Amino acid sequence: MTTSLPSSALGRVAGLFMILAGLGAFALRAASGEWNMLDPVPVASVLFGAMACAAPWDRWPRAALFSIVAATLLLKPAAAFFSGLDPHTHGVYYAILSMWIGVAFGRGAPLASTLPMLASYLAPMWLVEAPVVGLATALAVLPGCIVAGEIAAWVANRATAAERESSERAGKMGSLVDATLAMASSHEPDQLARLAAIGIADLYSADVAMVLLEGEEGLRVAARQGVFDGLTDPSADPELALLLWRALQHPDGALEPEDLEQLQKGIGLAELHTKSLRGSASAQGLVLAGHREEREAPDPVTHYVAQTLATQAGLALDRIDSARELRDETLRDALTGLGNRRAAMAALERLEPNDVLALIDLDHFKRVNDSFGHAAGDRVLRTLGTFLRDSLRDPDGVFRIGGEEFLAILSGADEDGASVIRRLLERWRRLERVTTFSAGVAVHRADDTAERTLGRADKALYEAKDAGRNCVVQDKSEGEGPDKSL
Ligand code: GH3
Ligand code: MG
Ligand code: MG
Repeated sequence: MTTSLPSSALGRVAGLFMILAGLGAFALRAASGEWNMLDPVPVASVLFGAMACAAPWDRWPRAALFSIVAATLLLKPAAAFFSGLDPHTHGVYYAILSMWIGVAFGRGAPLASTLPMLASYLAPMWLVEAPVVGLATALAVLPGCIVAGEIAAWVANRATAAERESSERAGKMGSLVDATLAMASSHEPDQLARLAAIGIADLYSADVAMVLLEGEEGLRVAARQGVFDGLTDPSADPELALLLWRALQHPDGALEPEDLEQLQKGIGLAELHTKSLRGSASAQGLVLAGHREEREAPDPVTHYVAQTLATQAGLALDRIDSARELRDETLRDALTGLGNRRAAMAALERLEPNDVLALIDLDHFKRVNDSFGHAAGDRVLRTLGTFLRDSLRDPDGVFRIGGEEFLAILSGADEDGASVIRRLLERWRRLERVTTFSAGVAVHRADDTAERTLGRADKALYEAKDAGRNCVVQDKSEGEGPDKSL
């Protein structure tokens, strides 16, 4: 593995080294009284060093740095030949060169350069006929240089690995922050599940990620990232459902190793990580990240970040649930469980032509309270609420819009609406003997507003009360038509 140090930095360091070596050679020559400004080798060393400092190494392949190795290996014997420098004093030069090779090309490179280094070191000694002394000093000096080079390579590799790890961790923290921000503004469970699946797939560099959410019929796949058909309906396979349930019971969503292996096999993945979407009270679901092939285990930081992301998703799901409960609460009548006046007003905005509005009001209800007490009155109101809701069809709506006044919206009932309400009244008379009700019915027409249709139903209700109560009156006027003032 080569280090992450850029070639340009290595080139500049080597250039500086060669300039200093050249200047050192001038100094040595001056000290021995043989100063010569045009001494070819020190001059070449300084010039080559200057070129190495200026060369655009980053634009060239890393292998271009071999030219520096070759030049430094050639300059040393040349210095002995042409400038008469004592070759036995060069140990430190080779030590620095070997360390540079280690940093530039990684572990093993200093060892691999033993032979060229030996040749460079020995050449001047062999040629000045001191081969035995040369070999002896080479044996004393070069192993130390190689070891120093390998140590430098090892340290540089560690530094590179630490740098890469830290940048990977920063990337993971970035993914967590992105996913958390996106989840904070999400108001739909399935959209949130999608964000969690994308975030977790990103963290584990997974081939596939899934989010399973707790529903009324157990876990369901709410989001999926990556192409994968191994798990479509968790409730269809009781064994898988049991394993997923076990993961859901664990605080982190983890599984025992044998359970994990069984789950991996069951859904056809070589490796799987499970985390729980932990809400404040209980787990909201699970998030799974998987690989088709086995790979190196992720580091603990990845697991911590993944669990944090899953917990953020769980808390965001809690928030969505609470908001939904609160919204439902503001639209529900506490006594009967029906929609309240606010819900009725919202439903009136969706009114379609031929829908029927029926205003239903209990007769002499005050007397019920007076005779049997308020609690008995409440019971009658609850009974009427349940009776109306159970008697009407799914698309119809029933709301309690006032004390003892209810609104039924019969979807598309048209002229049949009044007879439907009459049949309800007949059944109510048999069911609840304490009090009857009166009703006013109006059919909504295309050229009318919901408000005016409601007004006609109200007028019909008054007529029913005037007619002696315990009856249903249908408004027969055809509406007032479009507002002519517009
Ligand atoms: P009418 O046939 O003309 O409609 O006579 P009514 O007595 O039903 O009408 P009125 O408007 O005079 O009285 C409505 C009564 O409904 C008065 C009030 O005590 C009662 N009421 C309103 N809300 C509730 C409730 O939540 N619980 C109970 N028990 N009674 C309620
Ligand atoms: Mg009444
Ligand atoms: Mg009333």
